[in-house]
Amino acid sequence: MSFEVIVIGGNFAGLSAAMQLARARRRVLLVDAGAPRNRFSQASHGFLGQDGQTPTAIMREGKRQLSLYPTVTIRDGEVVQARADGDEFVIGITGGDEERAARIVLATGISDTLPEIPGLRDRWGRSVLHCPYCHGYEVSGGKLGVLANHPHSAHAAMLIPDWGETTYFTQALFEPDEGQLAGLTARGVRIERSPVVELLGDTPRLEAVRLGDGRVVRLDAVFVAPKTAMASPVAEQLGCVFDDGPFGPLIRTGDNKETSVKGVFAAGDAASAMHNATLASASGVLAGVHCHQSLAIQPTR
Ligand SMILES: Cc1cc2nc3c(=O)[nH]c(=O)nc-3n(C[C@H](O)[C@H](O)[C@H](O)COP(=O)(O)OP(=O)(O)OC[C@H]3O[C@@H](n4cnc5c(N)ncnc54)[C@H](O)[C@@H]3O)c2cc1C
Repeated sequence: MSFEVIVIGGNFAGLSAAMQLARARRRVLLVDAGAPRNRFSQASHGFLGQDGQTPTAIMREGKRQLSLYPTVTIRDGEVVQARADGDEFVIGITGGDEERAARIVLATGISDTLPEIPGLRDRWGRSVLHCPYCHGYEVSGGKLGVLANHPHSAHAAMLIPDWGETTYFTQALFEPDEGQLAGLTARGVRIERSPVVELLGDTPRLEAVRLGDGRVVRLDAVFVAPKTAMASPVAEQLGCVFDDGPFGPLIRTGDNKETSVKGVFAAGDAASAMHNATLASASGVLAGVHCHQSLAIQPTR
């Protein structure tokens, strides 16, 4: 089968884009490497109708429903190369196969780089958390920490008291300014300036953190904002323009989710400053709809 659209990445954003295109009866190839960003968590929260499901179950059901559309082909694999060739795009998939289409939707997501602190990586997605809206409810009432690794960290620490008793760990790097200090104090946030040097407890549970000065502070969960990078080089290979996001680069798109490269659309975490499953899915819908409209109105790019 020849394809009209290739969707690269098959989780919230990619499946949502492909679903719109499938329902518009377009021939779609979706290629997915099967490593979604939230795979470290046991449960995904806040996605309508799927609250508390495992990330794997949500993805599997999304693929099952998409596969019922006769114009859709789903392939497991990684797109390792992508380029324009005249009016088309050509992708190379692990194993050596090449496929072509008039449009590309990039939904490849991002990868996280965590601070190098012993015991932190092993607890990622379990008791080391990125987002209180996703996982705060499950740790509410506990002793909570915010590990500063970004100028926005003090702002995040002001929100966390809604879930539990909060300590802001400056890591001796992100001392709050006067306004932040007033805000943290008003919210009852404790400030700890001796850096966290180790996370303690029966992994993946967190029981305490050890500080540089030797003290041990009891803690049930800690929030941290990882630095992010593109999960795949395909956007760069296609020549897409990037913007600086708060935590790492983002693919630049217009309101219609088209990138700086005509015929290439992008959605989800790779193209958005706010990272959330529902938002990724919504932007995938936008990308799918606008991709379809561009095919309908101007089939060649
Ligand atoms: C630990 C953790 C827990 C989270 N929990 C929640 C939560 O509970 N609720 C919530 O709303 N949000 C949560 N999030 C945020 C949420 O995971 C993301 O916003 C969402 O997954 C983004 O969806 P996406 O489709 O853009 O990317 P992803 O979900 O990361 O999916 C991208 C897909 O593309 C594939 N891919 C990448 N490159 C290629 C390639 N070259 N070829 C083929 N396939 C490729 C990947 O393997 C992956 O399957 C969490 C994030 C983290 C880090």
